[in-house]
Amino acid sequence: MSCPFCGTAGSGWERHPQGKDVFRLQCEKCGAVDFTETAYTTKLGTITADDKGLLAKYFHDNKGRVPLITYSNFDEILDEQRAKRDAERLRTELDKEK
Ligand SMILES: [Zn+2]
Repeated sequence: MSCPFCGTAGSGWERHPQGKDVFRLQCEKCGAVDFTETAYTTKLGTITADDKGLLAKYFHDNKGRVPLITYSNFDEILDEQRAKRDAERLRTELDKEK
């Protein structure tokens, strides 16, 4: 299958090796990203394509250092990424006016 976030082929989900209620995404570009079962089942299905792009960027920027994604930090990470993107857009706009 392809990565649900960045679309890279050959990605997939596996159960956490220690058998916890954790799902691990294995993606060549995103790295290994762990999701709690709650985040996996309740959050992943609800996010937009735009959100997926933001998460992909976060995973790529933090490859190998992505914390366990839980129900609560899922939204925090998304909000943070949105704020970062908005700041970048604003900066680009301001640069144009110089
Ligand atoms: Zn990916």
